[in-house]
Amino acid sequence: MKWNEKIKSLKPYVPNENNCDIRLDANESFIGLSQETIDEICEEIQKISFNRYPDPMAAKACTAFADFYEVNAENVVCGNGSDELIGIIFSTFLQKGDKYATILPDFSMYSFYGHLAETQEVVIEKEENFEVNIDRVIETCNNNNVKMLIFSNPCNPTSLGIKKEEIRRLIENVNCLVVLDEAYMDFWDQSLLNEHEKYENLIILRTCSKALAIAGMRVGFAVASKFVIDVIKAAKSPYNVNLLSQKMAEIILKDKEKMQKAIKLLVASRKSLATEMQEIENFFGIFEILESETNFLSLKMDNAKQLANFLEEKGIAVRHTGGLVRITAGTMKENAAVLEAVQQYARSC
Ligand SMILES: *Cc1c(COP(=O)(O)O)cnc(C)c1O
Repeated sequence: MKWNEKIKSLKPYVPNENNCDIRLDANESFIGLSQETIDEICEEIQKISFNRYPDPMAAKACTAFADFYEVNAENVVCGNGSDELIGIIFSTFLQKGDKYATILPDFSMYSFYGHLAETQEVVIEKEENFEVNIDRVIETCNNNNVKMLIFSNPCNPTSLGIKKEEIRRLIENVNCLVVLDEAYMDFWDQSLLNEHEKYENLIILRTCSKALAIAGMRVGFAVASKFVIDVIKAAKSPYNVNLLSQKMAEIILKDKEKMQKAIKLLVASRKSLATEMQEIENFFGIFEILESETNFLSLKMDNAKQLANFLEEKGIAVRHTGGLVRITAGTMKENAAVLEAVQQYARSC
């Protein structure tokens, strides 16, 4: 049996495999759902016909999303996490050998799906301070016959955000499809969701895994022109989002006020973590905190891996990626624990 080349480098995605009690490595919400919401879900579960296939278009979930973010439901498609949508976008809008551009470091799944789709990655490196040089991105895309540009804003793992004006300028000046992954935009106010109709070359991705606190249910959405959305609807597997996930998305997106309160708490946690981490930075000077528009902090430092390992030994899981230590903002207790451990590490340097 002769297998193809592309499967040779494939490895299963391994999340942090440790028994850390404190998990600040995956940017999940530390708040979770309210008892009231859980009760409502339990009640709804009783009514679900589990023997039946779900709605292929997840219409109710899409409508709830559309109402929540003030877009039209016909411009929305639901995925089994935004991860699935990224895969579908690669295999549908690109052909084998086509070029796509990433701005690294960025979310690792872009390169993964690009590889699976047998497309060619054009890597644009972020600047020394991890910022994005928009002019250079435009130039690189247009000079290299790039068919699709994909990036996150605010960015995972850098936590930095690019302002709307700059994103508009980018979309207006490249000759390609732009996939704007706004996974963390619930924490910032620079979304282009309400302007998506102006751009036929724009797809915006959102997820219910971060601020909206249902990472375990796997729900993501794409917003774009009706044409693009209909293509994705036609390309996806028919029953991609299960009954329970559709129902839960519908329920959590219904209560905008409750969600906005939770998001405020998540942002407050990140701000307080940043303030205290800043004191450690000022005193010891072993890292630099990047300005965060997300629910996590990114520390730029020489020995990123060493700090991540130290924290893991203390029972605190964080992510070491792209030369950064990425720490999700947690409960007050979790934040206090990670601050204490980072300080210990700094003292030992
Ligand atoms: C977490 C994350 C996602 C979300 O993926 P889901 O599959 O919806 O859980 C997408 N993009 C970025 C940049 C992320 O950090």
